[in-house]
Amino acid sequence: MGSIGIKYPTPAVSLSDHPATLPEVDIPDNIDNEAVATEVLPKLLDLSAETLAENVIWRDSLALTGTFRTFYSPEQVAKIWRYRHKQSSITDLAVTPGSSQVLRFGSATWLQASFSFSTSGACPATCSGTLGLVPHDGKWKIWLITTILEQPLGFPDVDKLEPGTSDLKTDGILDCVVVGAGIAGLSLAGRLKAIGLSYTIIEQYAEVGDIWTKARYDAVKLHTSRDYNQMPGKPISFRPEDPYHLRSDDIAAGFQRYVKTFGINVMTSTTVTSANFDGARKAWTIAARSGGELVTLRARHLVLATGSRGADPVTPDYAHKEKYQGDAIHAMSWKNAAPWKGKKGIVIGSANSAHDIIGHMVDADFSSVTLVQRSKTWVLPSSTFGTLVDDVYNPQTPSEISDRILLGNPLPVQRLVAMQGIRMCADASPEYFDKFEAQGFKTERYGDLWGMMYDHEGKHFFDVGNGRLIADGHVKVKSDALPVAYTETGLEFSDGSHVDADVIVFATGYKSDLKNSARRIVGPEIAEGLEEFWQCDREGETRGAWRDTGRMLNFFCSYWNHCTLC
Ligand SMILES: Cc1cc2nc3c(=O)[nH]c(=O)nc-3n(C[C@H](O)[C@H](O)[C@H](O)COP(=O)(O)OP(=O)(O)OC[C@H]3O[C@@H](n4cnc5c(N)ncnc54)[C@H](O)[C@@H]3O)c2cc1C
Repeated sequence: MGSIGIKYPTPAVSLSDHPATLPEVDIPDNIDNEAVATEVLPKLLDLSAETLAENVIWRDSLALTGTFRTFYSPEQVAKIWRYRHKQSSITDLAVTPGSSQVLRFGSATWLQASFSFSTSGACPATCSGTLGLVPHDGKWKIWLITTILEQPLGFPDVDKLEPGTSDLKTDGILDCVVVGAGIAGLSLAGRLKAIGLSYTIIEQYAEVGDIWTKARYDAVKLHTSRDYNQMPGKPISFRPEDPYHLRSDDIAAGFQRYVKTFGINVMTSTTVTSANFDGARKAWTIAARSGGELVTLRARHLVLATGSRGADPVTPDYAHKEKYQGDAIHAMSWKNAAPWKGKKGIVIGSANSAHDIIGHMVDADFSSVTLVQRSKTWVLPSSTFGTLVDDVYNPQTPSEISDRILLGNPLPVQRLVAMQGIRMCADASPEYFDKFEAQGFKTERYGDLWGMMYDHEGKHFFDVGNGRLIADGHVKVKSDALPVAYTETGLEFSDGSHVDADVIVFATGYKSDLKNSARRIVGPEIAEGLEEFWQCDREGETRGAWRDTGRMLNFFCSYWNHCTLC
């Protein structure tokens, strides 16, 4: 199953440019939600544009289109739904008992119900979905449809990963080789194992999890929650006794537990250097280096789970670098503050890494720490993230259910719902932001989390504790002028002022180009025909991740199982 007539690469369209709105209607509390949903659901068997609200959106996750697609407008949704229904023969439509409820997010309201159905076309399967309903002229109209493939008949259940042992094979043609044993590669391997495919992960580090304990800074911890980061399978990878914000050791221990418990096949200390596709055999030949030895594997599918960012650090250029007597490094090379204990530091940047690093400097008793902010930063308190996410991702809810609840929705709808929640939380605690402003740190209070993730990547500050260093004045903020030149002892700013520093850290981000890093492995010829990675296509679906990329090669990133924000 692949995408239908799509030519790669596809152009990027900002999430905010997709025609999505949340319904603003009155729905009384005393209606029989389930009766309404039961009355409307059969209309899907003969769907007409009149049954659909003007702002209708349908997102299909593999159930009826074989891939991830989103459709807009009554005419388009009705037309494609009817066509797909003809191909797939939808049957057994039933409202899930107890699922019907009125949802209210700020000014947005709709009646939502879950349902199940079967398909009996080329790929007979059981599926699930949700309907969003709104009243209109005395009738109920559908404004939201989601459809999700649950279980193709005759295949194992991808969500049922049982404890087991490794069966690592390197000879013959494997079904899949996965490059990278980070959270994405491991999660995918768990899925491959669950459905009985032959696979091997190839990981460059000696131990699974070293990317967190050795390659990133010492005190790194996730800003997103433990349960948001669970990998598929039971028992869960991160335990309830692990901290809410996992530290690097917790992550590595969880990864290793996962590999051991489920018997995930990983070749460690092995770096993939190239991969070539043999069109006649429809197989990849993957070359890797393990110590001094060359290893060759063959596979029908190749997945690059090599991390979506971090390859090329962005560092601004200031004049007279040669004058500066201190150290100037990018956050990518930052391990800890120990070499400069008690000294002076400047951190350029105001997003997550910057706030982590000012924390390390304060903990190392720096005599002065200055954070340089170029423009307003959207600040998301950890409590807001918890309010948005903890009801869905928690120890009681299996992550496959959580994913369906959150990620089954069209991305533009996810975006709007998150924006409503963020606005409500920010309005409830204005004093939190006022404290930042009082110290000169310019804040954006109402953020577009999905826009940040899909359109811009990063550029926000998830406050998991270090915000207090700014708010309480432990760290100075320089936001009224930008650095223009190095001096012998620090930096000179555009307003003529100087700040001294023994170490300057650039927390100024990375140029993220997964296609470019793919090029290093698969070569320019194959890379040219590939879909771009990340940002949305014209339907509001993610480009190049989790689906056909134009080759039997996939970029895999961890945003599906457990959205991973940084
Ligand atoms: C400082 C920092 C803090 C972050 N905080 C958060 C957070 O709070 N929440 C969050 O969700 N995300 C956070 N992130 C982002 C996080 O890195 C990603 O979300 C997550 O690690 C992506 O997982 P991944 O498996 O796609 O890639 P990675 O974790 O980067 O794993 C890629 C793996 O591929 C291996 N590899 C790469 N190339 C090869 C090769 N040629 N051969 C063999 N092996 C190879 C690497 O060694 C690595 O093990 C943070 C990132 C950084 C740098």
